[in-house]
Amino acid sequence: MTDDRWLAHALDLAVANVADGGGPFGAVIVRDGVLLSTGQNRVTRDNDPTAHAEVLAIRAACADLGDFSLAGCVLYTSCEPCPLCVAACLWARLDRVVYAADRDDAARGGFDDREFYELFARDRSTWPTVVHAGEHADSFAPFDAWLSKADRVDY
Ligand SMILES: [Zn+2]
Repeated sequence: MTDDRWLAHALDLAVANVADGGGPFGAVIVRDGVLLSTGQNRVTRDNDPTAHAEVLAIRAACADLGDFSLAGCVLYTSCEPCPLCVAACLWARLDRVVYAADRDDAARGGFDDREFYELFARDRSTWPTVVHAGEHADSFAPFDAWLSKADRVDY
């Protein structure tokens, strides 16, 4: 199938999810032209602010493959991934991400995607959630443990 057909699949999932009481977002992950997983936004149904369609599609594909890397895969999503999801796509090492609607469309739909992108360009002191360093003396201890573990699984 072409990019356009996979996007249509993601859009269909998004529209269907609204009828099922979820948010208007859907995603699919494809490898070598084969559908690996789907995801639909479940934020309100699961009381999980991270249950975005892309995140759920990534979790399902990784669980099925038994791998934390999705290198070689493509994610198609009904809307431009928010900062959470675009970072999840980077962590998943996806080859490519293709979206239909963009952050401006999401803003018109009443969602904060564009607002969160704009936050990253502003000083953290202006953010609605306060994020700052606690400056703890042992802050590097987890990385010391990690770096000294010879049999660690790098990712
Ligand atoms: Zn997202």
